[in-house]
Amino acid sequence: MVEKAGALRDGGYPIDIRGTATEVVRRMGILPRLRDAHIDSRRCTFLDADGSTVASLHPRAVAGGVEGQDLEVRRGDLAATLYALVRDDVEFLFGDSIDTLDQSGQGVDVTFHSGRQRTFDLVVGADGMHSTTRDSLFGPEEQFHRYLGYCFALFTMPNTFGLSRELVLWNTPGKAAALYAVGDNEELHAFLNFHRPQPPFAVLRNPDAQRDLVATAFAGAGWEVPGMVDAMRDADDLFFDTAGQIRMPHWSSGRVTLVGDAAYAPSFLTGQGSSLALAGAYVLANALATHRNHTAAFAAYERDMRGFAAMNQALVDNGAATLFPTTARALERRNTMLRDLVTMPSAPARPAHSALTLPDFAPAP
Ligand SMILES: Cc1cc2nc3c(=O)[nH]c(=O)nc-3n(C[C@H](O)[C@H](O)[C@H](O)COP(=O)(O)OP(=O)(O)OC[C@H]3O[C@@H](n4cnc5c(N)ncnc54)[C@H](O)[C@@H]3O)c2cc1C
Repeated sequence: MVEKAGALRDGGYPIDIRGTATEVVRRMGILPRLRDAHIDSRRCTFLDADGSTVASLHPRAVAGGVEGQDLEVRRGDLAATLYALVRDDVEFLFGDSIDTLDQSGQGVDVTFHSGRQRTFDLVVGADGMHSTTRDSLFGPEEQFHRYLGYCFALFTMPNTFGLSRELVLWNTPGKAAALYAVGDNEELHAFLNFHRPQPPFAVLRNPDAQRDLVATAFAGAGWEVPGMVDAMRDADDLFFDTAGQIRMPHWSSGRVTLVGDAAYAPSFLTGQGSSLALAGAYVLANALATHRNHTAAFAAYERDMRGFAAMNQALVDNGAATLFPTTARALERRNTMLRDLVTMPSAPARPAHSALTLPDFAPAP
């Protein structure tokens, strides 16, 4: 396992584990540990332009989660749990990355950024949405990236609002600002999301330009937004990106394959990225265990996983972006829906979350 960060990345915005992925973590034996890490937010409050309350709901009512089954954990808690499971059996190379992959010989000859060279039977690129493994095998990201019309900034800031285990989301047409208190911590996850028809490629590698772009987008906004923009300027953990998906006709080439966001990022709008990554890793591992060679295994992985990935990516076309309306009319419609939800039972679970039946893990004969 090679990770470019110098140590396990323990940063922690909350991610969801739902449906099929819950069964994956149960089979991995880590469900009890993740249940202990479950965030169990109490409330999700929606505000309008001047900060007055539109609706206050249980988060499950909004996201369509299944009570007692679906989990929401800090990203870092999931990473730490997975790491603890394999750290004694797997060699980890932190602070390094792959520079070149050469498949002309018997295996995959890898040259690392540090200069070391090793040969592996197979390589799995699990390096996220902006995967360089994908770039080196299949070419530039642009051809697989589907921009969804939003840019977002994520950072932590002091919890001076007294928020506890709750999410507060402020909206005007095309803009959203959220404060997420994951526990009773002194820190909050702050989130600024705005609509932009064209992706701002020019700022993607320039943090100062990102800060300026976000500040300009939120100039004149009400509620606590000016304080959030100030906090963003000071934040040392700013994460800026476009909301987008990765859609590829194939995920494998020779002895190299892709898993997770690198192959089929669904975007945060679906809340399904971690669940897809976990399910994809399981399906890939099972395919490798049950097929005699990697060619057949990679074909089985793509065949068994593709429909599930496509169904979850399609959530964005079926209303997953309704939390971020871009016009006044759409915002009013969403607010009416939220007010109605207050008096209704929870939203039903999304069929896409559980649409994959996992194979029983069986080693090759
Ligand atoms: C704001 C936000 C909110 C989200 N909310 C949710 C949610 O509610 N539910 C949900 O399921 N998902 C959510 N996601 C998405 C989720 O985080 C991802 O879909 C999920 O983490 C994908 O896992 P991954 O392992 O494929 O990629 P990543 O988590 O991106 O991991 C990739 C890893 O590879 C490393 N890496 C990258 N490049 C290299 C390289 N060249 N060499 C070596 N290492 C490298 C990175 O440091 C990182 O550790 C959200 C994402 C964001 C940004």
